[in-house]
Amino acid sequence: MSNGHVIRGARVGSAPARHPERHQPVPCRSVSYWCRNGHRTDIRIVADVAAPPVWDCPRCGQPAGQDAQDPPARTRDEPYKTHLAYVKERRTDAEGEAILAEALAALRHRRGTR
Ligand SMILES: [Zn+2]
Repeated sequence: MSNGHVIRGARVGSAPARHPERHQPVPCRSVSYWCRNGHRTDIRIVADVAAPPVWDCPRCGQPAGQDAQDPPARTRDEPYKTHLAYVKERRTDAEGEAILAEALAALRHRRGTR
């Protein structure tokens, strides 16, 4: 028996079991979420994947949970804001001007080189 001899066909104990029917569609289940506004959202999720505890309601944007009697509390009391609104919160107007000028300069530079 020599060292370094490769044993073929050795099973790796930690390998997951293979599904015998490979051509079947991935099994899915339906998970329902309810938001504070009473909107119900059904999502399809792969059967062996854990459902996320919270799902954003596509109708009102509030977090929705799987317990219809106790939907999660809203995480944000503010109305929906645009990305620009968030940026404006973080930046002063002067900074915004500088960033805009920088972006425009970069854009012009890129256009000029083409
Ligand atoms: Zn909703």
